[in-house]
Amino acid sequence: MNRVFNFSAGPSMLPESVLETCAAEMLNYQDSGMSVMEMSHRSPVYDAIIKEAEAKLRELMNIPDNYKVLFLQGGASTQFAAVPLNLMNKNGKADYILSGQFSTKAYKEAQKYGDVVAAASSKDDNFSRIPETTRDSFRPDADYVHICYNNTIYGTKFNYIPDTGDIPLVADMSSCIISEPVDVSKFGMIYAGAQKNMAPAGLTLVIIRDDLIGNARETCPAMLDYALMAENDSMYNTPPCYCIYVAKLVYEWILGMGGLEVMKEKNEKKAAYLYDYLDSQDYYTAPVEKASRSLMNATFVTGDADLDKKFASEAAKAGLVNLKGHRSVGGMRASIYNAMPYEGVVALVEFMKDFAEKNPK
Ligand SMILES: *Cc1c(COP(=O)(O)O)cnc(C)c1O
Repeated sequence: MNRVFNFSAGPSMLPESVLETCAAEMLNYQDSGMSVMEMSHRSPVYDAIIKEAEAKLRELMNIPDNYKVLFLQGGASTQFAAVPLNLMNKNGKADYILSGQFSTKAYKEAQKYGDVVAAASSKDDNFSRIPETTRDSFRPDADYVHICYNNTIYGTKFNYIPDTGDIPLVADMSSCIISEPVDVSKFGMIYAGAQKNMAPAGLTLVIIRDDLIGNARETCPAMLDYALMAENDSMYNTPPCYCIYVAKLVYEWILGMGGLEVMKEKNEKKAAYLYDYLDSQDYYTAPVEKASRSLMNATFVTGDADLDKKFASEAAKAGLVNLKGHRSVGGMRASIYNAMPYEGVVALVEFMKDFAEKNPK
């Protein structure tokens, strides 16, 4: 069977060359006589893998030396609790920007632990745009400000980095991590589930500034305590070994093409091809404000729920799978992460044209 173009929001496509390396090294990793899946995480051969993964990520994202890189588990959703447990520790206050479903989940989770308010929200516009903020949007004594940088479900992305002054900015980058360069020094902490753009599900990446570590609440579970995880080089317990190995291969894949500037160009080219088509016709509507459009997740609707349904099922038959929009939004969503080739987007647009012609409204 041929491989399909998989537009899933996550878990999602991995680069074919990475999967081939995984396959080639599956039974016997570099003369160790075993698969990476079977290795002790304390073995020298695995130690080299996790150290290399961190080194490659630091190179790729240009992570300053005063930031720790942690390879954790529990998904981005576990960080919704870990962030307040570790960082809401001076005034017991935090400000959240609500730009979609995941930021709202993070906000609700944080409310269990302190005085948490929504500093800005685009809920009234069905999250079709990124809320605007200024320095004055935030309480001066907030312990941190939280944002979701790319809103996977709605297809929006922050087109600016909120000015929070001295207040640490925490960003959920699950669906846009390593899709383009970001200035890590603008953030106190970045976290991301790996399954959108980095690796199979099971790995959660945390990048955190040194001075924000070490003040977790006494009641913080050991597994969520960044200090403990940092002291143990992400090996307090068994890390998600195989996912970290795949992530390393993905980092090497991007470095091999020239790094995040090149990755960004490729992603912009793909997204422009799809958005240009959407803007050129009136069969499909893209509900998101143009200035807030995501490079990674593009949403569109026909305006007719039955046609939307037919679109997703006929696209799947044509080898373009997982185009159904999130259950809370409806319509279609094309997730075009790093590993989606340009040809996949061209094939999608061809299908869209053909579908519009065959299914007049
Ligand atoms: C997918 C996603 C999550 C949830 O990630 P899990 O790893 O499943 O917990 C959170 N935030 C964003 C932005 C996402 O895209």
